[in-house]
Amino acid sequence: MNTLKEKATSIQTTILEKIHEHEQIVFCNDPNTGLKSIIAIHNTTLGPALGGCRMYPYASFDEALEDVLRLSKGMTYKCAAADVDFGGGKAVIIGNPLTDKTQAMFRAFGQFVDSLNGRFYTGTDMGTSTEDFVHASRETKCIVGIPEAYGGSGDSSIPTALGVIYGLKATNKTIFGSEELAGKTYIIQGLGKVGFKVAEQLLESGADLFVNDINPQSIAFIQERAKQLGRNVKVVSGDDVYTVKADVFVPCALGGIINDVTIEQLKVKAIVGSANNQLLTEKHGEMLKQKGILYAPDYIVNAGGLIQVADELYGYNKERVLKKTESIYFSLLEVYRQAELDDITTVQAANRLCEKRIEDGKRLNSFFSHAKRPKWDIGH
Ligand code: NAD
Repeated sequence: MNTLKEKATSIQTTILEKIHEHEQIVFCNDPNTGLKSIIAIHNTTLGPALGGCRMYPYASFDEALEDVLRLSKGMTYKCAAADVDFGGGKAVIIGNPLTDKTQAMFRAFGQFVDSLNGRFYTGTDMGTSTEDFVHASRETKCIVGIPEAYGGSGDSSIPTALGVIYGLKATNKTIFGSEELAGKTYIIQGLGKVGFKVAEQLLESGADLFVNDINPQSIAFIQERAKQLGRNVKVVSGDDVYTVKADVFVPCALGGIINDVTIEQLKVKAIVGSANNQLLTEKHGEMLKQKGILYAPDYIVNAGGLIQVADELYGYNKERVLKKTESIYFSLLEVYRQAELDDITTVQAANRLCEKRIEDGKRLNSFFSHAKRPKWDIGH
C-alpha cells in the first residue's frame, strides 16, 4: 500500500512528465477579482492554440493542472483532426461556477488571455457560458464562439450535427458499400441540440429511428417532428438503448457510455455520434474491434463546432463552415482504411492521422509566433 507521501510524489511525477510535453503554461492570479486560472498551450505547430475555458471547483491546484494539461493535449489532436490552422490549448478557472463567478473575474481572465498576444484563443466549456465570454471579449479579441450579436458565430450545433451525418455516410459506405442513409436503422441517444438535428435529417432521408432521451419533452418534440414528416419513431427507455438491434448506434448525450457492460449488450454494426469521450477507456476501442463493431472516433465526428469557431478567425462565413465540415467524411474514410490496413483500432488510426498532420505542419512552421504569421488578422 502506498503511503500518502508516495502517492503525492507519484502524482507530481506524472504532472512533471506532462508539463514537458507542453509549450507554455501560464498561471493567472488576480486577488482583486479572485481569479485563479491556468492556461496551458500544448502545441502551436499548426497555428495559435485554441481551446475552451472550464470553470470547476477543483479540490487542489494539482488536480486543476492535471486537467488543463490533459485537455490542452486533446485539443492539439482535435484541431489536427478537424484540419483547422490551430494548435491545442485549454484554460481552467478554479472556482465554483454557481457561486464564484463575476463579470470582473472574466474581464481579468480576458486581460491574461490578451497578454499572450494571439497565441491562445478561447471560449466556453463546462461551467462557463457565452455571457461570461462576452465580458472577457471586452478585454481581448482572442475569444471565439460568442453570440452573433457580439460578432461571434453563434450556435455551433448545426455544423456538429452535419458532421455526424457525414460520419454516418462514411460509415455506411465502409460497411454497406454505399453512403445512402435510407434503408438503415439508427438508435439515437440524446435528442438535444445536436441529436434532434441528426434525427430530423435521418427522418427526412427516409431512415428508421429508435430514439432515447431522459427528458420526455425531447421525445415529444421528435415525435411531433416525425408526424409532420409523415414518419414514425420508436421510443426506447433507459439502458434498453444498448440492447436494441439496429445498424448504427448514434450517441449524442453522454461520455463513457461505451464500456464493459454496454459492449456486451450492443447489437449494432457501428457507433457514430457527437458525444465527447464515448469510450470509457482506450481498451474499449480494442473490445469494439474484436466484436466487429466499427467505431467512428468521436473527436473526428464531432468536429463541426470546432470548424465553426475556427472559422471566426477568417471572418465567419456559414457557407464555408458547412463546406469544410464535409472534410469529416473524407477523414473518417481515411481512418477506417488505415485501421483496416494496419489491423489497428480506429482510435489508433485517428491519432496517427493527427500526428502525421502535425509532423507535416512542422515542415511549414516549426514554431508559431505572431510575427511569423502576418496572414492572421488578430488585431494586435
Ligand atoms: P444538449 O445538452 O443540448 O443535449 C443532450 C441531450 O441528451 C438532452 O436532450 C438530454 O436530455 C439528453 N440526455 C442526457 N442524459 C441522458 C441519458 N442518460 N440518456 C439519454 N439522454 C440523455 O447537448 P448537445 O449540444 O446536443 O451535445 C450532445 C453531445 O455532443 C455532448 O456530449 C456534447 O459534449 C457533444 N458535442 C456537442 C457539440 C455542439 O456543438 N453542441 C460539439 C461537440 C461535441
